[in-house]
Amino acid sequence: MKNIKLAALQGSGRTIVRVGNVKVGQGFTIIAGPCSVESEEQTLETARAVKAAGADMLRGGAFKPRTSPYAFQGLGLKGLKILEKAREETGLPIVTEVIDTRDVSWVCEYADVLQIGARNMQNFSLLREVGKANKPVLLKRGMHSTIEEWMNCAEYILNDGNPDIILCERGIRTYETYTRNTLDLSAVPAARELTHLPVIVDPSHGTGRVGLIEPMSMAAAACGADGLIVEVHRNPAEALSDKEQALTPKQFEELARKSRAVHKFVGEL
Ligand code: PEP
Ligand code: MN
Repeated sequence: MKNIKLAALQGSGRTIVRVGNVKVGQGFTIIAGPCSVESEEQTLETARAVKAAGADMLRGGAFKPRTSPYAFQGLGLKGLKILEKAREETGLPIVTEVIDTRDVSWVCEYADVLQIGARNMQNFSLLREVGKANKPVLLKRGMHSTIEEWMNCAEYILNDGNPDIILCERGIRTYETYTRNTLDLSAVPAARELTHLPVIVDPSHGTGRVGLIEPMSMAAAACGADGLIVEVHRNPAEALSDKEQALTPKQFEELARKSRAVHKFVGEL
């Protein structure tokens, strides 16, 4: 591996990405919220619930990269304005995906963290654009990508001047069909070995199954992840995207409590 900047900081401590008062890379950071911003009521209600359950940041997609062009594509600017309202009310910083280079600068006016989705991990012009942005970037691992390819994408962002990168393992495609993806938890210690950047896990897209999300969250905490990003909906059956993997606020509360307990326990070993 020849990731110059990623390797350069090794030995001089780990990067802590600051997002408002949240320090990703210190303690265990939990990001939660709906897959998509669907309406003001849905987003605010979910934001209040995840905040009460101990989430540190709110996630929600306003631009959705969908497999089918006929599926819900997100509310765009209207969605970002709803997220802004949710931040005003709850104080939770906003994590939201950007899918087009032309949107990066103005999405920065609403987002606290720019998410680069799995499908765009190797969209090099998008990486270079968020590399020039003054907001932290959450870089998901591509579903078909090796760890080395993922690291090189972080290197693109760093090379353009943005040091605030949060890596996110979200599962890769394998022969398995029971789960939506195969959550590669070995990527967590691997990425922590290769870089100084914080690494979080997305067990929602990583499994695609409600019943597997809490156990894999605890496993992520046990293997050294710096946090989680989890999909929560006030009424999963009504979600416009990814309803099979949406947790209720109650399920999320349990997950957050148990994952933090595992993180604490492992930290004391
Ligand atoms: C998402 O977080 O809603 C999403 C689309 O994730 P991924 O890019 O990992 O599929
Ligand atoms: Mn989703």
